[in-house]
Amino acid sequence: MIPHLDMGRVNRPYEAELSEAAQRVLTSGWYILGKELSAFEADWARYCGTRHCLGVGNGLEAITLIFKALELPADSEVLVPAHTYIASILGITNAGLTPVMVEPDPATYTIDPQQIEQHITERTRAILLVHLYGKACDMEPIRQLAQQYKLRIVEDAAQAHGATYQGQKAGNLGDAAAFSFYPTKNLGALGDAGAVTTNDPELARRITFLRNYGSEVKYYNEMQGVNSRLDEMQAALLRVKIPYLDADNQRRQVIARRFLSEITNPDVQLPPAETWDQDAWHLFVVRHPRRELFMKALQERGVQTMIHYPVPPHKQKAYQEYNHLSFPLTEQLHREVVSLPLYPTLTDEEVDQVIAAVNAC
Ligand SMILES: *Cc1c(COP(=O)(O)O)cnc(C)c1O
Repeated sequence: MIPHLDMGRVNRPYEAELSEAAQRVLTSGWYILGKELSAFEADWARYCGTRHCLGVGNGLEAITLIFKALELPADSEVLVPAHTYIASILGITNAGLTPVMVEPDPATYTIDPQQIEQHITERTRAILLVHLYGKACDMEPIRQLAQQYKLRIVEDAAQAHGATYQGQKAGNLGDAAAFSFYPTKNLGALGDAGAVTTNDPELARRITFLRNYGSEVKYYNEMQGVNSRLDEMQAALLRVKIPYLDADNQRRQVIARRFLSEITNPDVQLPPAETWDQDAWHLFVVRHPRRELFMKALQERGVQTMIHYPVPPHKQKAYQEYNHLSFPLTEQLHREVVSLPLYPTLTDEEVDQVIAAVNAC
């Protein structure tokens, strides 16, 4: 069986270096807000090309903290794609703001720039872009709208480590970006971890306080903050993997290109080939009109698949106030999408097997 994702295998090449880093943290005797975090923040800011990086507890809290730090009026609306992982929406509502969902572009699966303007009201203050499945959003028309309507641009870059738009990295395309380093992401920790990147020094300063009880000087609190810090252990482990991220992404791209050129099953709708320069290929998502049968047939041929995601946010019980809304394309995608195995340690033979199985089903 080819598993959809095998994290043990993904981390195996780095085991010796990860153990060494873990040992270094253990013997240092310092586990929260120390030099491993500072070093990681410098490394990740350099990788993304931003002036600032702040390590936080996870990706969801990175989104929430950005929206708290932006200090938007309490009744503000935030535009967000309807086709996304629930964390994008939770990050907005956890900050006390109102998400306004927008359909995706069927050609990219990311927010449709053509459909943004019709959702703008006098309360719209920001747009949360999601570089879904590893593909950067179409920034040019979005930037024009943001400028015209004075909207802040926030990126949910949880699936787009290393993706670029016109040479610039995801994480450096708006006012601030949220990263998750959940183990399965392209750059994955061995536990929960996240970060915010930004070029805005004031925003960076506020997030530094907010993640640590709203305090700069211990026991003196400037704001009502939270406890959401990236610990020394995860920071040290992530630092080990940053130098390998580009090579890992390149391997993902080689596999994705083979899928794109060799999958010929007429019932399988392939994802768009690379639209902008660099796709992070976090997931390889195809569409099939009879998804459950297709997945079962692949399983019988030894290929495990997953669904990202089975229920759109506006149809979740957690968001009953949005259940009456209709986003036909989002709903269709949620019915049809299937993610094939795609990770750097997948061997060429396994890629052959996946292609053969998909073409035979
Ligand atoms: C993983 C993910 C998140 C949340 O990250 P966590 O670290 O699990 O909180 C947010 N948005 C998207 C698009 C994600 O894929």
